[in-house]
Amino acid sequence: MDFSHYTTKPVEMAVALANTQGVVKDELTEPDQLIDFLENFRPLWEGVAKPPKQGELDSVRELRGAIREIFESGDEGVAAKRVNRLLESYGATPRLSTHSGTPHLHFEPIETSIVCWLGAITAMGLASVIVEHGVERFGVCDSGTCIDVYIDTSRNRSRRHCSNTCSTREAVAAYRKRQAD
Ligand SMILES: [Zn+2]
Ligand SMILES: [Zn+2]
Repeated sequence: MDFSHYTTKPVEMAVALANTQGVVKDELTEPDQLIDFLENFRPLWEGVAKPPKQGELDSVRELRGAIREIFESGDEGVAAKRVNRLLESYGATPRLSTHSGTPHLHFEPIETSIVCWLGAITAMGLASVIVEHGVERFGVCDSGTCIDVYIDTSRNRSRRHCSNTCSTREAVAAYRKRQAD
């Protein structure tokens, strides 16, 4: 699925941030983990937002919870309310950008904290998924041992797991259960 130029990376970032939290794992408990996470997306925020600071971890963890809630919305109205709350509280600001040659809109606050930037840009990415493809594209893994979120990019919206690893494991488990029965 091709999101617009501006939203592909923010959507990836929203999914990656939500998935730092698992059933047993939590990959966002130390400030260094936040720095590593943001390092993967440095070209997006460098020169736009202030670099991450010690002490911002809790705010990013709070944002992670809010992003996860959007994936769990299930309903368009609920999802819209949650996305709008983030857009407002993280200061999403429309801006005309010409950095890639073709003028297009960005929605991030500039020269602000990395948390505000992250909140605004991920919320905007998820908003564009809803607008262009519908809330049904948001998914949470169906596996009993995984809570990873995903965007369902399958043609018939049939995806139920976050990854091939999870769908294979669940298929094997279901097969074994049938054999045993
Ligand atoms: Zn751009
Ligand atoms: Zn999974």
